[in-house]
Amino acid sequence: SNSVVWFRRDLRVGDLPTLSAASDAGGRTLGLFVLDENLLGPAGSPRQDQLFANLTALDHQLDGKLMVVRGDPADVVPRVAESVGAEEVHISADYGPYGRRRDAAVAEQVELIATGSPYAVAPGRVTKADGDPYKVFTPYFRQWMEHGWRGPASTDAQTVRWFDPSDKEGGPRRVSIPAPSASVSDFVGEVGALEQWKEYCENDLDRYDDERNRPDLDTTSRMSIPLKYGTIHPRTMLADLSKRLGDGAQAYRRQLAWRDFYADILFQRPDSARKNYDDKFDRLRHDGGVDADAAFTAWCEGKTGFPIVDAGMRQLAAENWMHNRVRMIVASFLVKDLHIPWWRGARFFMSHLVDGDLASNQHGWQWTAGSGTDASPFFRVFNPITQGEKFDPDGTYVRRWVPELRDVPGKAVHSLKAMRPVDYPDPIVDHAHEREEALRRYGEIKG
Ligand code: FAD
Repeated sequence: SNSVVWFRRDLRVGDLPTLSAASDAGGRTLGLFVLDENLLGPAGSPRQDQLFANLTALDHQLDGKLMVVRGDPADVVPRVAESVGAEEVHISADYGPYGRRRDAAVAEQVELIATGSPYAVAPGRVTKADGDPYKVFTPYFRQWMEHGWRGPASTDAQTVRWFDPSDKEGGPRRVSIPAPSASVSDFVGEVGALEQWKEYCENDLDRYDDERNRPDLDTTSRMSIPLKYGTIHPRTMLADLSKRLGDGAQAYRRQLAWRDFYADILFQRPDSARKNYDDKFDRLRHDGGVDADAAFTAWCEGKTGFPIVDAGMRQLAAENWMHNRVRMIVASFLVKDLHIPWWRGARFFMSHLVDGDLASNQHGWQWTAGSGTDASPFFRVFNPITQGEKFDPDGTYVRRWVPELRDVPGKAVHSLKAMRPVDYPDPIVDHAHEREEALRRYGEIKG
């Protein structure tokens, strides 16, 4: 009989086992995407735009036969299935808190068959010998390597006999894919993702291990964007990495394991999207009120007077993306210098990052805040000036993003000891003082 492939975080046709599973049903297959307000609302325009561009690319791969509808999936998915005479709806599993609730609601009405997931190793698969989940990355990583992953599935759009949405009778209305409101990344859709990955492997991967902490050199892959939308599967990337020798490929594989690790943690503890993973941090005193609001605004706008922090926040505003090292620095600054709770920063990130991903983002924040699994100890407070001097040693990154500082030479751009341009803000806090304050507050809860 006919079937539906409901695309979500897997906007591609290659290496997509869901397609083979749907074809096995024998009939024609409708490709479906649901524009769901519950996800679109909080996404922010960078992610919406990237999504729309990726959907247009997917529709192209399906010869214009991608059926896009609006509405609540629990309502529209079963009705779409009925309108094309499909008995099965095929998905790749979603392990996020909302995705699980949504899929459970849909599955009450129509047969929902999950094949694969957006991860190399799906959440819940890597456990300790007694079946408990890992809470620390390194042993998780060892077991993750041991567990291994499948090779890429050989699927393509031709594997499937696509159902033409214009043949369907009744059911929810097909809508056109919204046009992006601003320009999106250069690499769009599956074709773009594969090209981005290939170029990365050819040009920068060998330098990854040495340079990945250097925002000035900008030699990380930015593959977080295609991975977010599933225009590429990590399996495809891991298969390429396994053909490469050298420290770059090894270090890169380890980073992909972090992505799986955080998805696993969020799966085990869905409440950790909003709450401290370590609940002793519930007692940590935060700042609120108008002063904290003003400090938060300065942070958001990149006007804290701390060059590396401001450069990061301005990169985020300009590119909807930020280098990992700088994400850690700005997050630490918000939590430990401004004493603002991590979830305020995390929410801001989610509405601006084009790669915004609930598991990696919330746990990246919790790691920095000290409240997460495997967290950086709270008492290790990043000094924004020495972090800048260490990871942006010539100041190139800061000068790239903070035009007021463009005439300050070399690494002096971090401390601004010799000169501080008049149009650049004074530091909004005294770091040494706030560090002591953060440690004092931590002392109250550490028990
Ligand atoms: P590369 O260095 O090229 O890494 C390759 C891939 O490995 C990445 O694309 C990503 O999929 C994975 N990866 C690398 N580091 C991490 C990590 N620490 N945690 C999880 N996966 C990792 N990543 C997101 O994808 N979405 C987010 O919303 C997000 N928010 C973050 C918030 C904070 C406060 C912090 C500290 C980190 C966050 N990260 C997030 C993780 C990391 O910063 C980004 O994955 C990385 O910067 C993306 O750039 P890249 O693709 O060039 O990375």
